[in-house]
Amino acid sequence: MNTHPANTIEVHGIEIPSGLLIGGSWRAASGGATMDVMNPATGSVIARVADGTTEDALAAAHAAAEAQQGWAAAAPRVRSEILYRAFETMMRRQEELARIVTLEMGKPLTEARGEVAYAAEFFRWFAEEAVRIDGGYSRRPDGLGRTVVLRQPVGPCLLITPWNFPLAMGSRKIGPAVAAGCSMVLKPAPQTPLSSLLLASILQEAGLPDGVLNVVTTSRAGDVVEPILTLGMIRKLSFTGSTQVGKILLKQAAAQVVRTSLELGGNAPFLVMADADLEVAVEAAVQAKMRNMGEACTAANRIYVHTSISREFSTRLAERLAGMRVGDGLTEGVQVGPMIDAARRDKVLRLIEDAVARGARVVAGGEAFAGTGYFVEPTVLLDVQPGSDLLDTEIFGPVAAVQTFETVDEVLRAANGTEWGLVGYVMTQDVDLAFEISEKLEVGMVGLNVGIVSTPSAPFGGIKQSGLGREGGRVGIEEYLDVKYISMPLRERSHS
Ligand code: ADP
Repeated sequence: MNTHPANTIEVHGIEIPSGLLIGGSWRAASGGATMDVMNPATGSVIARVADGTTEDALAAAHAAAEAQQGWAAAAPRVRSEILYRAFETMMRRQEELARIVTLEMGKPLTEARGEVAYAAEFFRWFAEEAVRIDGGYSRRPDGLGRTVVLRQPVGPCLLITPWNFPLAMGSRKIGPAVAAGCSMVLKPAPQTPLSSLLLASILQEAGLPDGVLNVVTTSRAGDVVEPILTLGMIRKLSFTGSTQVGKILLKQAAAQVVRTSLELGGNAPFLVMADADLEVAVEAAVQAKMRNMGEACTAANRIYVHTSISREFSTRLAERLAGMRVGDGLTEGVQVGPMIDAARRDKVLRLIEDAVARGARVVAGGEAFAGTGYFVEPTVLLDVQPGSDLLDTEIFGPVAAVQTFETVDEVLRAANGTEWGLVGYVMTQDVDLAFEISEKLEVGMVGLNVGIVSTPSAPFGGIKQSGLGREGGRVGIEEYLDVKYISMPLRERSHS
């Protein structure tokens, strides 16, 4: 880690800005405080970045507010081309970006490369949407007037992102905001600021005007976020993170009547029906459980398997998980990286212990690894008993909790019996059953014979306490647009 001039640092040979981005310039935090960025595979410090304060937050909000009008006036094609250029740069620099994601977050390089492509695709998708913002023209029912409907940028946005997909959660919000013509303040998670700083520098390079995107890294989220919301300049809040923090932010947003999108926790049920293709079901379960080491809001949290196939399914799942290579994500071939920090690792271990104390059987893994880094073995628990903590909390780790069921009604009741409703997975070859269950699951997304649902072209989001609004897809940009209509008392000329 060398310190370079002008607030840039070099991390593993990659140059990254280390300051706050406010009004187009990179600067140190007021007071000069910095915070450490750790590599969870080694527990060592890999970088030091600015630790933003309330003063910095307010400066960033003012910069966004100042940039808003000019940015809203920019031609859609201009906005679109900036996003295209950023997409292209990200793909050109895929390897570097992937290394930074792995270094600060821990996921294996292959998954990090996938995240870069996924994140970049949000820019391409919204580059295509930027020039397709339409409106309406209609004749009033009484024939005496016309209504013209237009869509305009909602205004300055506050974007708050989590650490588990540090690039993609940023681009999923920045992409539509840029396309719609909104200025922004981005507050990334303290564990993973480097990805966001690189993303911001790529957008700057792509021609995003000064002040349109401001970035405040900080270790004290509350000191930055609440003052920005209270200021009254922000018109839109988009948050991805825990349900607990989402509820706090919804209250803060309510005080200013700020439009709010929330992507909160999930507790995904994964249903393996009696007729499921076992190979497909096991593969999907591995993906839904192990992607990102289980640190995903879409992770399969409760796996329900029909009793008639439970032994076969569980044996195959245990074999697959036990065979996965755990280690430093930078090592090629590693499939499972560390948990983000010691607290998260300890939480996962506590959940395993609790389930076992209540009667679950460990058939794979079950332990942490000694030594540096926060590794947990891929774990399969069978006969998980009702009341176990991991059934009504997000595990956020590589632990598959398997239960059995007999009837469709019984499994639907169990699957829907939580306050969450992000995603559910169904494994069946029966088309009628597939649609019945897809319709009855109380979720925003369904994976049918597949373990991954995320794609920029589809509307991602949940119902119940999993959130408000959708990101991606055709509707993704709507979250950043206000509807206005112009009423015209147009009289029709009488015909002679
Ligand atoms: P996780 O449990 O996955 O870390 P959090 O909800 O705690 O999820 O964090 C998601 C994002 O919310 C991060 O950027 C974090 O800094 C931010 N955050 C945490 N607490 C607050 C808060 N009180 N106000 C605003 N943002 C917060």
